[in-house]
Amino acid sequence: MARLINARGTFTPLGVSRSSPGVAAAVAAALGDFALMADLQAEAGRRLAQHAGAEAGTVVHCAAAAITLTVAAVMTGGAPERVAALPDARGMPHRVVLPAGHAVDYGHPIEQAVRLAGARPVLAGTPEECGMAALEAALAHPETAALLLVSSRLTSGPPMDIAAAVGLAHARGLPVILDGAAQDWRMVELLGTGADLLIVSAQKYLAAPTAGLVLGRAPLVAAVQAQERGIGRGMKVSKEALAGVIAALAEREALDAQAWRAGQAAKLAAFLERAAALPGVIADAEPDPTGLPFDRARLRLDPSVAPGLAAALRRGDPTIWTMDDRASLGEIRLELVPLREDELDLILARLGALLAPG
Ligand SMILES: *Cc1c(COP(=O)(O)O)cnc(C)c1O
Repeated sequence: MARLINARGTFTPLGVSRSSPGVAAAVAAALGDFALMADLQAEAGRRLAQHAGAEAGTVVHCAAAAITLTVAAVMTGGAPERVAALPDARGMPHRVVLPAGHAVDYGHPIEQAVRLAGARPVLAGTPEECGMAALEAALAHPETAALLLVSSRLTSGPPMDIAAAVGLAHARGLPVILDGAAQDWRMVELLGTGADLLIVSAQKYLAAPTAGLVLGRAPLVAAVQAQERGIGRGMKVSKEALAGVIAALAEREALDAQAWRAGQAAKLAAFLERAAALPGVIADAEPDPTGLPFDRARLRLDPSVAPGLAAALRRGDPTIWTMDDRASLGEIRLELVPLREDELDLILARLGALLAPG
């Protein structure tokens, strides 16, 4: 297989993240043995809840599956006949309201993950603006089952006051599902908004095997688990993913977060200093818009040069992937978090060769 350097972040088509040797060993051990799945699931859920200070937790196949299954949970409440009926949602509240700017596409439109449960996504406001009045109007419909919010750099429009939106839904007695797929660093903060169910991908910054973490209020988490005998069958978690999640959570808890942040900041500063010495490059640090605890490298170049440069990096061996969605504006960004020093040297050497005059 061709060598690949991923400076694009936790991007699914590139394999998302790198697990530690400890997580890999836990996965390998699980694969070689049987397990009482209910016990393993219960242990993972307990540790997850404890880690983030939630009432309860559970693990499903991935965050996209978790969106479908949390929607199924609020529609059915876990009642067996309703669980068995889905995705036929007749007789159940089935409207799921989301701000139009939160209708993200992480590989498919999030609305499809809602529809898979038999629900109907209802967009409030416009992609540029969704005020509390627009949200309130959408939530007022009697068939509303839940409010779905997203915390991600993929959302559009001005940042939403999530706690205020949660308050609106709760005033109507409606539960709130919050998709914070790449926000494992911010689980405590996101639960602090009052959201009833929080969804996180285990394979993004937590670097566990692919899995969807669901945290929140115990009755709703139980209703998510009840879907295992329904549409959740095809979205189940594996024993190896559960073992990997447990190991990754233990490693996160043992991590000195302050030292980790300082290490990331120093790595980025050294990279930016070397990048700024390249011809035609202005380099600086860009904070994550959602508040993740690290910055990204931003290289500003002539807009006529940047798209070709990103494409040339991808074509080489090793193939180097950057965040190039703003290349036509002259901006290429790189996420350095999972990268080793030798990989940073390779990126800078390739940039140097591609940007050399003549
Ligand atoms: C990655 C992502 C998802 C999907 O996560 P998977 O675990 O890959 O299914 C959902 N929502 C957002 C905002 C994401 O970034």
